[in-house]
Amino acid sequence: MTTVPQDWDSAYADGTPPPWDIGRPQPAFVRLAERGLLSGRVLDVGCGTGENTLLAAGSGAEAVGIDVATTAIQRARRKASERGVAATFTVADALALSELGQVFDCLIDSGLFHVFDDDARARYVTSLGSVLRPGGMGYLMCFSDREPGDWGPRRVRQDEINAAFADGWEIVDIAADAFDINPIMGASTAQAWLVTLRR
Ligand code: SAH
Repeated sequence: MTTVPQDWDSAYADGTPPPWDIGRPQPAFVRLAERGLLSGRVLDVGCGTGENTLLAAGSGAEAVGIDVATTAIQRARRKASERGVAATFTVADALALSELGQVFDCLIDSGLFHVFDDDARARYVTSLGSVLRPGGMGYLMCFSDREPGDWGPRRVRQDEINAAFADGWEIVDIAADAFDINPIMGASTAQAWLVTLRR
């Protein structure tokens, strides 16, 4: 297992939910689900407490969520059983997805890509490619350089997204979208890029 630089588990163990843990799926992913795009074998990478995974499962996907934060995975499993939704949640490293020994039709990343520095970002993209079947789709939402200020995660520019997925991926679309967040300094949304990828 690769060493993960930040102590993600403490973000969940603190009591107050972290800004991204809104207790419901991100609206951008709800729209994808409504279009029937979260289907087949779906992997939600960096799933947190699992709202987007459970959204996919509730839309008929065979959904798996992975995260490094054990507390988040425990909470996701509890939600699945409380809601009677069948989904699998596993503690795993997004930088070593091939260790899952599984291949997926569709990947979800809501708020993970933008946590990595340049070196880890390259390893992350390789890791994603190792578990997505040829022709499989990825839906990735990250912080955007359109978001002012410097609180929260790293801002990502479109040209960085193009560069990161230059090898072995087709970037189908990069659309301006937004994260819903728990209010932080009066804001309840943050500017995002919603990236549609094909392997
Ligand atoms: N997708 C979730 C969480 C986004 S926050 C949501 O929308 O609520 C980013 C998540 O990535 C956190 O849960 C963090 O624990 C997880 N994470 C960070 N680095 C990771 C890594 N290397 N492997 C797997 N998960 C990681």
